[in-house]
Amino acid sequence: MENRYNKLVEKSLSKGSVDPEDIRWILTEKSVELLQLLSAVYQVRYRYFENKVKINILNNVQSGNCTEDCKYCAQSKESENTIDTYPMKADDEIIEGARQAYETGAFRYCMVFSGRGLGKNRIEKICSVVKKIKAQYRMELCVSAGFLSDDDAQELVKAGVNRYNHNLNTSSSYYSKICTSHDYGKRVDTIKTARKSGLDVCSGVIIGMGETVDDIIKMTDELRQVGAKSIPVNFFIPIKGHRIPEFKPLDPQYCLKVLSAFRFALPEAEIRASAGREYHLRSLQALCLYAVNSVFAKGYLTTGGDSVDSTKQMIEDSGFVVEEIE
Ligand code: SF4
Repeated sequence: MENRYNKLVEKSLSKGSVDPEDIRWILTEKSVELLQLLSAVYQVRYRYFENKVKINILNNVQSGNCTEDCKYCAQSKESENTIDTYPMKADDEIIEGARQAYETGAFRYCMVFSGRGLGKNRIEKICSVVKKIKAQYRMELCVSAGFLSDDDAQELVKAGVNRYNHNLNTSSSYYSKICTSHDYGKRVDTIKTARKSGLDVCSGVIIGMGETVDDIIKMTDELRQVGAKSIPVNFFIPIKGHRIPEFKPLDPQYCLKVLSAFRFALPEAEIRASAGREYHLRSLQALCLYAVNSVFAKGYLTTGGDSVDSTKQMIEDSGFVVEEIE
């Protein structure tokens, strides 16, 4: 059995991925030993990222009232959640968020806008804020603002945005189960637009919405096809009023196997333990660092999370190092 772990490492490092059957084995085979798996996946993670961990800080700069019907999202107009909703924050507030992120040692500041996409006014406003942040703080900037046109993408590049986030969220086969107001193809088009303009692509998934192992295998393949350099792996948080009837509680060991599967399948990508890290991994959180090289701190879009200090403490206590921007 030990051989199988070594083979995963060899395959991932030499071929740049593992086979679908390897992912199925990791996720379904009861005899898989978690610590052996983590020891193996750490070899792959170490090859590309040594023991460094990037800290990302999100700012939900516009919240709620979205016309789309993504069932996992508390910001959809269809959601029964009672989250805070607000239009785009003032520049000062967004820049203050950037200052705090910078001063706490964040590698990247991610500005997220609810809604289907950007209009001319919002693009101008975002670009103006981005330029101000870039002039003051040495930090990567990521924008997540829905569907993107060629012109929008070029404006973002000119302003200095490093990365555009647009999650695939699940597999193409399962997409219609989680959203009906747009299709999977539209998501892929936006990612292609971002890439074409020169933006790095951040695109991730949400695990725990009723997807099968085949869907997870497909997600790894589809993320490779769209060229995602950064992959946030979220674990669905069943906040009150959610609309995912297929949700079943996730256990921490399964979550760690999922993160390992993504690392083996996409060895060179920045894999990020994202929403649900605290909620689902619970006391095993620190073990995720053997597979991932990136985490969020200070919470997510509509749910809280560990502070920057306790996230740093976890990283350092586990023998990892917070990565600083060069
Ligand atoms: S498009 Fe974005 S903000 Fe709108 S419902 Fe879907 S995930 Fe939520």
